[in-house]
Amino acid sequence: MAEGNGASDKRIRLLPRSSPDYTPIAAAERERIATGRIDKPFGEGMLDGLNLLKESPDDPRTEMFGGNTPEQKRRNFITVWRVLLDGMHRQKSSKSWAENFFYEMATSPDIKDMPDNYVFSWNRSPDDFYSNFSTISFDSFEWMIERHVQNFYQAKEKVAEQLPELTNDFNSKLRRLSRELEFSLPDDFDKRIKDIDVALVDPLSNIKMWEHDGLYHPAARAVWVPYSWYGMDNLVITPSLFHEFVHHGAGSMSLILNDEVLDLKEGVAIPHQKTDKLSFEWMDEAITQDLTIAMYEGEFVHGGYSENMELLNMLIGKGKEVVPSNLFYSSYFEDYDPKRNAQNQFPHGRALRERIGRAYVPGFLSMVDRYVRDHGLPETIEQMNHDWRRIPPKFGMDAKAA
Ligand SMILES: [Zn+2]
Repeated sequence: MAEGNGASDKRIRLLPRSSPDYTPIAAAERERIATGRIDKPFGEGMLDGLNLLKESPDDPRTEMFGGNTPEQKRRNFITVWRVLLDGMHRQKSSKSWAENFFYEMATSPDIKDMPDNYVFSWNRSPDDFYSNFSTISFDSFEWMIERHVQNFYQAKEKVAEQLPELTNDFNSKLRRLSRELEFSLPDDFDKRIKDIDVALVDPLSNIKMWEHDGLYHPAARAVWVPYSWYGMDNLVITPSLFHEFVHHGAGSMSLILNDEVLDLKEGVAIPHQKTDKLSFEWMDEAITQDLTIAMYEGEFVHGGYSENMELLNMLIGKGKEVVPSNLFYSSYFEDYDPKRNAQNQFPHGRALRERIGRAYVPGFLSMVDRYVRDHGLPETIEQMNHDWRRIPPKFGMDAKAA
């Protein structure tokens, strides 16, 4: 197609994350996420409803859950949130977050002020607290939700206060690593880390947080951290937060189509052409967690991805020659650069694929990735452990030929 072909061309643009043009798009994306009320704590909707009921008991919106008198309406309203919490306690994937809520209540400094006149002992487990849950009065449940909402907003302030120090700490730790392990960071790395947007999210009000210690939204350039009563005081959240910060620092390439963002490269992950899965996602998480752990210099870091890292280490060391690990890191942080030749847009990525091809057989990295997507990490690890030469024949290649 001819270049400069009028307005329609401008609708599709390839952009590095560092481009100033990207900023308004990220802001719009954040706005879109925020209007989905991701940053509201569980129960705030209930308190809003109860307020409305107090101020204008005849408002048609208060009829939503049935009941004739204001008190009936109030009880029905509260019951909805009780049932929601109970439901989350019964589901495996959200149980620990519901337990966290009961722990938060059981250890609340002002639990003595709870309206019910029996008082839970301070040392009760969340389970004990839960088993008494059904006997708690409507007033007490309202008290609990008020505490929870208040605690959430306090924690939010705390995170905002600590953020500049955390991002500084993160920046110096990762810069030190890049010198020690000899990999390059994006040119705008300092600015990128300074501008990081962190949203504290209550897992009880956001199903996406159930399975995660943290989430990164590339298009919005925003990190989500789960609110946890356990985590706020001693910052056990920091390693999870730093894991997400690493994602934020990763090199990227975005395709903008009519102001919608399509991430074409995020770290080493790229969208798979035919499925909605990502290619090299396992490796992207492996590198992210590997760097997070390296930043903590051997201290225990919770957060999983141990299989991902195991496979990454195998890929580095199990071939005919060792693949230098800094190639993985440099490739991870490599940004799209419009000044580079399209044939060699990601030189570190290319070098990585070539070195892996030399250590195994050409195209081996893609074969491993495909194998992970088809068979999962444990089986891929097993094959690599036994003999990596078992993998190429599955893709019609002779392992000895190379
Ligand atoms: Zn991750």
